[in-house]
Amino acid sequence: MSFIFADAWLITMNEQREALESASVCVEKDRIVAVSTRQDLERRFPTAEVVDCKGRIVMPGMVNTHTHLFQTLLKGLGDDMVLKKWFVCMTGPSGVHLTPADAHVAALHGCVESIRSGVTTLVDFMYVHTQPGMIKAVVEAFDQTGMRGFVCRGFASLGEEYGVPRELIEDPEHAIGDAREQMRRYNKPGGRIQVGVAPNMIWAVDEKGYRLTRKLADEEHALITTHVAETTFELQTAASRYGQTDTEFLSEIGFLGPDVLAAHCVHCKPHDIRILLHHNAKVAHNPCSNMYLASGCPPIPEMLLSGVTVGLASDGPASSNNHSLFQAMKFAALIQKGFHQDATVMTAEKVMEMATIDGARAVGLEKEIGSIEVGKKADLIVIDYENAFMTPIHHPVSAIVYSALGHEVSTVMIDGRFVMRDRVVTGVDEAAVRHQAQVSADDLARRSGSDRFKKRPWRSTTI
Ligand SMILES: [Zn+2]
Repeated sequence: MSFIFADAWLITMNEQREALESASVCVEKDRIVAVSTRQDLERRFPTAEVVDCKGRIVMPGMVNTHTHLFQTLLKGLGDDMVLKKWFVCMTGPSGVHLTPADAHVAALHGCVESIRSGVTTLVDFMYVHTQPGMIKAVVEAFDQTGMRGFVCRGFASLGEEYGVPRELIEDPEHAIGDAREQMRRYNKPGGRIQVGVAPNMIWAVDEKGYRLTRKLADEEHALITTHVAETTFELQTAASRYGQTDTEFLSEIGFLGPDVLAAHCVHCKPHDIRILLHHNAKVAHNPCSNMYLASGCPPIPEMLLSGVTVGLASDGPASSNNHSLFQAMKFAALIQKGFHQDATVMTAEKVMEMATIDGARAVGLEKEIGSIEVGKKADLIVIDYENAFMTPIHHPVSAIVYSALGHEVSTVMIDGRFVMRDRVVTGVDEAAVRHQAQVSADDLARRSGSDRFKKRPWRSTTI
């Protein structure tokens, strides 16, 4: 099938960062084959179906470089806690009681949310493996919804003394063996869905776990993702265990490399940033989560100035409470402006790069996705700006980053297939998914005891 997205305000994110008015894009099968005028494309591709995009913006689909899809079932249970308390009291125990069926419906819901807000590539960090079949549950959700991305087999190999539930701690050899098995089952060259590997963080993974991860990634050419320097607690643990920062430790044992996507890096110092750059490791920036968990304001401008690639992310919905990269873009710009008291320190254009082409680079797919250019995969979104939030419109990038709420996305294509067309999600019955997710969320909260967070005294202030 061929399609012409016609007469759009086209944000290409190509090398020149061209934003073209009344431009058209032709897609054949899974690739972008031409960018030109409607007239020219209708002449060259007479059998293509024309999708009228007047009054619409067309841009590349966004890349969410860090989430935990299972946490879709935990929205709103972890308010007003710092990360360690949040994990030990709520998220960890919820993980213990998660079933593959829960993981599946959570992932379906998370993929639907993502598609609705213009995300076409996801990195899922799945660290709950109390029962077999968790990776399969997420892969199948990607498959059903048409999502592109990475399902990363996470694990913890220690941390009981820090409050990591015993049920979530695995022998690293077993975890890595399972990750290898999943990779061999699902990974195909150029495949839309890839399995990666994800050691959790410095207070939950031993040195052997990190070393085995590196070996596995080298052998299977898989993406690695891990949490780095997210909280001061993480840094304190690294200092007491190894006498250095987690970034220094991971560098010293040969773990870091261009295939490592380091989530957060909130407390990276200039020396740590130089280490990340030296190894060409990438960063997943989660502005909403970092604020929600009071983790801190990461030194993103410093990373960008030094040349580190930074992608944007939502983090799991237990700590950002949705999968919207529209919110992440706005937060990413605003927190830096406020923190530095410098309005120029982070621009709308830069956060849009982080949400698209830089995110693609962060996961090693910059040759395939992240911009609208001839030869790239047909991953693109249509935004209907004829609504009260986005009009009056002067500058499309500013309107998307600062004015849009996310629901303005009307059509989403991944790999040349409409996964949402005119606001209808095509791969799954959205109403049924939402209903089942609520049933699973209520049941999981009851089983895990997290339902005690559903009711709380009114907290106008904690002071
Ligand atoms: Zn995370």
